[in-house]
Amino acid sequence: MPNQITVTTPLLPDLDEFSAMLKEVWNNKWITNNGQFHQKLEAALCEYLKVPYISLFTNGTLPLLTALQALRISGEVITTPYSFVATTHSIWWNGIKPVFVDIDPSNCGMDPDCIEAAITPRTTAIMPVHCYGKPCDIVRIQQIADKYGLKVIYDAAHAFGVEVNGKSILEYGDLSTLSFHATKVYTTIEGGAMIMHDQETKERIDYLKNFGFVDETEVIAPGINSKMDEVRAVYGLLNLQLVDAAIEARHQVAIKYRSALSTVKGIRYFEDMPGVKHNYSYFPIFVNAEEYGMTRDELYNKMRENGVYGRRYFYPLISTFSTYRGLPSASPENLPNATRVANEVICLPMHHQLSDEDINRILGLIVK
Ligand SMILES: *Cc1c(COP(=O)(O)O)cnc(C)c1O
Repeated sequence: MPNQITVTTPLLPDLDEFSAMLKEVWNNKWITNNGQFHQKLEAALCEYLKVPYISLFTNGTLPLLTALQALRISGEVITTPYSFVATTHSIWWNGIKPVFVDIDPSNCGMDPDCIEAAITPRTTAIMPVHCYGKPCDIVRIQQIADKYGLKVIYDAAHAFGVEVNGKSILEYGDLSTLSFHATKVYTTIEGGAMIMHDQETKERIDYLKNFGFVDETEVIAPGINSKMDEVRAVYGLLNLQLVDAAIEARHQVAIKYRSALSTVKGIRYFEDMPGVKHNYSYFPIFVNAEEYGMTRDELYNKMRENGVYGRRYFYPLISTFSTYRGLPSASPENLPNATRVANEVICLPMHHQLSDEDINRILGLIVK
């Protein structure tokens, strides 16, 4: 069997450079709690992402939990079933009822046309996802939020570095969160962040991610421990120097995929959106079984048998998991587009180290 091609591979800094910087951490004997590399990484990420404030976290799930806490969200939150399960789990962990709405297949984000019908007197917020790093309909979502007095928290785990008309996607909504997990475009091994728009919120979030401590003796809220440590901050600083080249390498992979797939009947994929700086975090294809002559799972299994490990992100829908499937909003009739897309999707391998040989091997299994 030929060697395996996985859906992604982590962005790894040079090990010697990493060790050299770790020496400094060891010398400092300051290994967590807002150390100097943590501060440096926050500053460097603000500059890279073009945002005024950021707070680093240990992963991409805890900033979602903390965002809901910080804004005192309760009752019901409108969200998307077409995401990684952490999105809905963060709502559930806060004792809030998730209300699922359908997606727009053209960007796999929440369909704004479905939001208003899902609003009840208990609704307090909307939690959309910039799925695959594709911007949601940020303007219409904000209009609806403003009309009904709702908060907007974006799960932007896929949207590192994405810009719309020169402005960071992270500037939209009340708060946005990032994941720096090993499988993401930019990684600190495990890690994440929250993006906010003012200094007071930044301070509050920094308290909340450190048990609510303001100083030695004062605790302002039931905070949590989700601080990033110095080792991962160093890893992140080094990876920040590599991420542009990694994104460009992914872009080239996307160009090659698109050019070969453009003639294949029954395979849909995304083009770049006008005015958007993409990060090429994923390359989903959508298989129309009738037109393509093979079901998604047949193609997925054929790829696997040949050592090509695509992933069916996001199948199954979050709304089908045991915790959530009893909710009225979880019924497939309420989520026709999400249900169809989840049954059609395969994310092709997409990372900065795919060779032309790899790409041709992958395409050879799909193009007939
Ligand atoms: C990866 C991911 C998360 C969770 O991030 P972790 O860093 O793994 O905790 C949350 N939401 C989405 C959409 C993700 O893809």
